[in-house]
Amino acid sequence: MGSEQQSIKRVVVLGAAGRMGRAIIRSLVEEKVPGLELAGAVDLWDASGLGEDAGVVSGTRAAGVSMGSDLAAVTPDAEVVIDFSSHVATSGNAERIAEWGCGWVIGTTGLNDEEMDAVRAAAHKVPVVMAGNMSLGINLLCTLIEAGAKALRGRGYDVEVVERHHRRKKDAPSGTALMLARSAAEGCGWDLDQVRRDGRSGHTGERPDKEIGIHAVRGGGIVGEHTLTFAGEGEVLEFTHRALSRETFALGALQAAKWLEGRDPGLYSMRDVLGV
Ligand code: NAP
Repeated sequence: MGSEQQSIKRVVVLGAAGRMGRAIIRSLVEEKVPGLELAGAVDLWDASGLGEDAGVVSGTRAAGVSMGSDLAAVTPDAEVVIDFSSHVATSGNAERIAEWGCGWVIGTTGLNDEEMDAVRAAAHKVPVVMAGNMSLGINLLCTLIEAGAKALRGRGYDVEVVERHHRRKKDAPSGTALMLARSAAEGCGWDLDQVRRDGRSGHTGERPDKEIGIHAVRGGGIVGEHTLTFAGEGEVLEFTHRALSRETFALGALQAAKWLEGRDPGLYSMRDVLGV
């Protein structure tokens, strides 16, 4: 009986010195998802740990790959880039990643319309998985919320989202809050951009029916908490997700990296990857 040789995909992590970058490198080095190996770890020129072993810097065993700042030096030989960096880095590298022809897993949030256009253009040439939240739980929740919103549509239930994150998070509302809000909007048959209301203050008047409020709390070390509420006159339904550690996002990103193998160019979501 011949044993099947599984090919190993070489992965470059962009934003490698960040909180998520280090979590991904730990999961890669510890082979939490088999069939992937770390081929490059790239961050800004002034990142801590530059020139040192990326595994050791991330708090695990040596990876044999140093933390660097030159994406072009490592990516052309890799199959996938996993990108948890910044909206500027993600959009700024889109053209080069498309030219290099590798798959791209994007967890970075906070991209504006123009920056998203750069990602969409790249997705014409290479397969891209992009999600504001890579966890199985949140992606399953999106499906449940969409079904809930469809069932409650036109029955007097208001939709509100509250997200809570650590004090160092740089964008608001979170990409996950927008994913949940978008799922509810789709269930209601609305366009989220037309109905979202980011925070309230002052003389806001009565709440219109066709609105989705989104609110951001920042503090301490909260990894990520999201609650979407359907508030009716006589009852309240709450869907809550709590991330207990960054590993849940890291494992989702690694699963997405594997899933990209053999895919056609296109912009895919984690719901495609997880089949929920
Ligand atoms: P972080 O700790 O700030 O890490 C981001 C890293 O990327 C930092 O080291 C940053 O350097 C670096 N970076 C910035 N510009 C770069 C460039 N041009 N080239 C290379 N590296 C660059 O943030 P984080 O908590 O890891 O989150 C990173 C992103 O992922 C955020 O957008 C966050 O919202 C998102 N996120 C997504 C998920 C998901 O499941 N999709 C989960 C968690 C977080 P500096 O510190 O010097 O700027």
